Amino acid sequence: MATIIDGKAAALKLREELSVTVSALKAEHDLVPGLAVVLVGEDPASQVYVRNKAKQTAEVGMQSFEHRLSADTAESDLLALIDTLNSDPQVHGILVQLPLPDHINEPKVINAVSHEKDVDGFHLTNVGRLNTDGKGVVPCTPLGCLMMLKAELGDLSGLNAVIVGRSNIVGKPMAALLLQANCTVTIAHSRTRDLQSLCQTADILVAAVGRPKMVPGSWVKSGATVIDVGINRIEQDGKTKLVGDVDYDSAESVAGAITPVPGGVGPMTIACLLSNTVQQAKRQHGIG
Ligand code: NDP
Repeated sequence: MATIIDGKAAALKLREELSVTVSALKAEHDLVPGLAVVLVGEDPASQVYVRNKAKQTAEVGMQSFEHRLSADTAESDLLALIDTLNSDPQVHGILVQLPLPDHINEPKVINAVSHEKDVDGFHLTNVGRLNTDGKGVVPCTPLGCLMMLKAELGDLSGLNAVIVGRSNIVGKPMAALLLQANCTVTIAHSRTRDLQSLCQTADILVAAVGRPKMVPGSWVKSGATVIDVGINRIEQDGKTKLVGDVDYDSAESVAGAITPVPGGVGPMTIACLLSNTVQQAKRQHGIG
């Protein structure tokens, strides 16, 4: 039976540490880190994410600014708002909730956010830094995965890591982080041949695909650490249920450790967003 990697507990611990840091920043530097979240449109899932982000931002003692714009907002108006936030000294982090409506150019908006206030790690400057000196802001989901892996395994040097999925927000930055941690990294995707055999070589298996229960236990090497990033809604027994990209029931008996869905990667993602905001606030004020 695998050890269950408890993302909720890890996120709670990280938020507690951040509360302490935020109190110290207030007391010693009169600095209250502020996160602005911009939501365009009424996508129900995005509304839930934005509400959770605002709540948790306030809970650790940071300032939260919410900007809700209608779905038909012009791109130029969104860019003007980002400009205002870029020069607002109370705002240290800016997050534009994705996806944006079709008429808005997503990369243009992402790169309009100052790279110093980018808390998603999606700005080209931060993408470049992740792949060079490693000193930029790192995308929240892979950062959370790396923290859980290090907490579980300690030194990751020399381990074989297989990441299924090559998106810009999860797969590619996850690969960059694991390479920095001295793993031997393979990225798989929809054109990969014999995915099963490849997965069976993984000491660390990260699934970030978006296909319910795609990875069965028979693909998991005995004792491997499995990180399931997938969040999929399925109908089961007349109810909507959240499941990952890994078939948890069969993988749990083979893996050494595994993240559940829900309660694994998800909670750490928001905690890492808060951590990135604190990091950017400190940098903007030259605090080590
Ligand atoms: P994308 O759709 O952007 O990327 C999916 C990747 O999976 C692509 O690289 C695709 O390959 C690959 N893929 C698709 N089908 C297969 C297949 N049959 N075999 C192998 N590879 C395949 O998804 P995201 O990276 O944005 O998200 C992945 C999952 O993670 C989703 O379920 C999402 O909801 C979840 N997620 C969870 C987060 C959290 O906080 N827990 C945060 C972000 C995402 P190709 O490039 O060839 O098309």
